[in-house]
Amino acid sequence: MSDHSAAVERIPTPQRLVDWLAVNGLAVDSCTPAQLDLARELRESIHAAATATAIQDALPASAVQVINKCSIEGRAAAVLTPEGDRRWRLSSASCVEDALSVIAADAISIIAGERDGKLALCASPTCRAAFFDTSQSRTRKWCDMNTCGNRQKKARFNANQRKNASSAFGSAQDLVDT
Ligand SMILES: [Zn+2]
Repeated sequence: MSDHSAAVERIPTPQRLVDWLAVNGLAVDSCTPAQLDLARELRESIHAAATATAIQDALPASAVQVINKCSIEGRAAAVLTPEGDRRWRLSSASCVEDALSVIAADAISIIAGERDGKLALCASPTCRAAFFDTSQSRTRKWCDMNTCGNRQKKARFNANQRKNASSAFGSAQDLVDT
């Protein structure tokens, strides 16, 4: 199962987007279906542009257009807290577009190579998601150690189990894993 395949929708409802934005320091009051569509379009475009960058391919023009449009249309401002942290202030609490502009600008700086790290593709053949490798050696293989990394290890473990001793337990485990 791929986290990024079209078949799996990770932000199925406006509320899920609201929750996700809050976790990322971009709290909004609400989200309309149209704003959710825009968020999905931005996510797909970032995915396409990051993948192209990871494999050193030309950037897809349509993806660049969507990312730029989202970046330009937002009115989020970086503000400094008394504790010295950076926060994002949106023009209004219902302005999902402002939150998306922060995400678009963030993606631009990563794709443009301004950040310390390297864009790579997940080694899981069923995932192949683009991720930003900030490890010291730049040798991270999976987009997420807890999902793809683990799945890969389990798959190898189960394959070995089957080779060594085919058991009902092994088959049941496979069912649980998939
Ligand atoms: Zn992955």
